[in-house]
Amino acid sequence: MLTCREAEKMVMPYIDEELGEDELDEFLEHIWSCDSCKEELEIYYTVSVGLRQLESGTGVYDITGALEESMELAWLKVRAGRLRRVICYAVETLCATGVLMVLILQLRMWHQAGILG
Ligand SMILES: [Zn+2]
Repeated sequence: MLTCREAEKMVMPYIDEELGEDELDEFLEHIWSCDSCKEELEIYYTVSVGLRQLESGTGVYDITGALEESMELAWLKVRAGRLRRVICYAVETLCATGVLMVLILQLRMWHQAGILG
């Protein structure tokens, strides 16, 4: 679990989408359980998104809604990443088991054929 100090340091990287999956996971968990950091994020997000909008000249826009959406997307990204890792692990394990089975069968065949004596 992150401390508020650590979470605060991740606010700007979060807004700039610079956090890795694990960092994102920890950050979101903290934000959801800590009102003061959530408020901090909302303020920074509103200011930085607001400034970007001023620069690009896009009109009125629901910034709080955008933050909620961004957090949901980030969460989905974390979930998807985790699922991908689980699947990769499962596939690798299956492959390793498969190779082992083939090897065992092959050894048995050689054994039965008398090649191994
Ligand atoms: Zn906090």
